[in-house]
Amino acid sequence: LDVGNTRLTAAVVNGRGETLAHWEQANPRAEGAAAGLAALQAMVARAREQAPEAAAIGIGFGGPVDLSTGLIRRSHHTSGWEGVALAEVLGAASGLPAYLDNDANAGGLGEALFGAGRGVDSLLYVNVGTGIGGAVIIGGHIHHGAHSNAGEIGHVVVTLDFGPVCTCGKLGCLEAWASGDALGAAARQAADEGRLAGSSLAATAAEDLTGRSVATAASAGDAAALAILQTAGRYLGVALAAAANVLDPALVVVGGGVSEGNPPYLEAARQSFAACATPPVAAGTAVVPALLGYQAGVVGAAAIALQALNAVE
Ligand SMILES: [Zn+2]
Repeated sequence: LDVGNTRLTAAVVNGRGETLAHWEQANPRAEGAAAGLAALQAMVARAREQAPEAAAIGIGFGGPVDLSTGLIRRSHHTSGWEGVALAEVLGAASGLPAYLDNDANAGGLGEALFGAGRGVDSLLYVNVGTGIGGAVIIGGHIHHGAHSNAGEIGHVVVTLDFGPVCTCGKLGCLEAWASGDALGAAARQAADEGRLAGSSLAATAAEDLTGRSVATAASAGDAAALAILQTAGRYLGVALAAAANVLDPALVVVGGGVSEGNPPYLEAARQSFAACATPPVAAGTAVVPALLGYQAGVVGAAAIALQALNAVE
């Protein structure tokens, strides 16, 4: 199960990370956590009808999870999730063992076991969507850290004392510079400051200046949109290099809707990564696109359960 901010996704996944069935529905987030929980229980019931031999439930949750207690800390978009023991509740209702982690950790483990990081012992994973999440995989396992907070590369500050305000309240976080929402905000600021003359974005209404519209304009050759993308990508590379200089991972994997199908963004990140990483890391650690695409969430969630059961094939 992948519990996203806008969508709930379920899949039946085998021990090789192959998706045998896959479906999704809108997250009823306006109705609060209870409605989301009921929807997830119905999805589990449907999955069990399709796969009576299912051995476990893996859950990737779009928000911070306290791994020491198994409780959700919060959802940034839906009220009522604070303190919910999601794995325990779904496990008790289904009679199956259930395993929970946050969605970025799930995505990172999925890439490590079944995607771009297959065969690699350590990797740094970043998911660039509306926000920026990340995961650290060491020895083939998620590194959670002392406070279940490892991998939060989106809240690495890349510009001290200046820069856009992040969703977390700080100035200059990577997420505020390089996420999909940040691309939209940068385009709106450029419009406000009259810097979009000659750009196709100049004719776009402010509320339609989003990460997607910037990426679309850039791929059509729009210079202003391309500059916004490249600035964002450069900040991503700076943060990735800082993390890689500390961790020395074998690989850096970049996934999520903003980076996928957006070569100038990833290329800008690669260039600043090469400039900021120490020589052995710059030479030895490749920055590669994720492979699992839109299935990363559910395959990653399954990976958590498969690894816990020692059932990865
Ligand atoms: Zn932040």
